[in-house]
Amino acid sequence: MEVVHPAGHFGKDGFFYKSSSRSHRGMQLKTILNYVERHKSFVYGTPRWFDPKTQTTIDVPIEPRANSKPICSKCSRPGSCYDHLQQRRFEFVPLWGIAVYFVYTMRRVDCETCGVKVERIPWGDGKNSLTTTYRWFLANWAKQLSWKGVADSFGTTWQNVFRSVKHAVSWGLEHRDLEGIESIGVDEVQWQLGHKYLTLVYQIDAGRKRLLWIGQNRTAKTFLRFFRMLGKERISRLKFICSDMWKAYLKVIAKKAPQAIHVLDRFHIMQKMPLVEENGGNRQSPRRRG
Ligand SMILES: [Zn+2]
Repeated sequence: MEVVHPAGHFGKDGFFYKSSSRSHRGMQLKTILNYVERHKSFVYGTPRWFDPKTQTTIDVPIEPRANSKPICSKCSRPGSCYDHLQQRRFEFVPLWGIAVYFVYTMRRVDCETCGVKVERIPWGDGKNSLTTTYRWFLANWAKQLSWKGVADSFGTTWQNVFRSVKHAVSWGLEHRDLEGIESIGVDEVQWQLGHKYLTLVYQIDAGRKRLLWIGQNRTAKTFLRFFRMLGKERISRLKFICSDMWKAYLKVIAKKAPQAIHVLDRFHIMQKMPLVEENGGNRQSPRRRG
């Protein structure tokens, strides 16, 4: 049954549609958001342009649902609201090339167990300016495109793509098993200007190719951290390791996995892994290192 109202009507979805076409558009966007990402204790306000002149960014205000208590980010128990912090912006998946931000004023919880803590929010975490959904979105695209390609396609930065991939990789390490890894490839990526590197380790088995691990820098220490994470048992089962001539890697491989056949073939890894990264800076050619 449609409820008739002078200012508009209630649609089948339960939302009230105002008669003016302008608000109607806002309502529809809200409906879509509730469809793709609905949060139990929070509601979306009416989306608006961040800057009506440029119209490049949509802000979606989020409010706590009436009578909902903030959840303590430390112990996950509800508590009363202690105070409000500054408004924060969380980047969501862009819509038709338009950036979308959730705008929310974080609360602090007066938690009986932990004291005053920042509340937990379901669409992201306290430290990250990207929503969790957007991080997974970017990380998924990073399987198809280079990190720079993803950044360019979605109007974000290389760093944001990198962080998203890193988040996906750590999630994978916590939730997926690391058994049956026989072949790995290690590669390095230079990023930003200057000499900043990342060490990327891939599983390159025939049936399973994935980015396993990301570490800061490309030192022996960095790569040793990967082996520590993998553990002795699993290391002993490695059969092939692919790397370039970078000395720190060679040293660690010889020390940690002498049983594995070491293939000096970086090109091979690069070709097999679309995920391997070009970045804001330059990939250093292996030859240049001499
Ligand atoms: Zn608590």
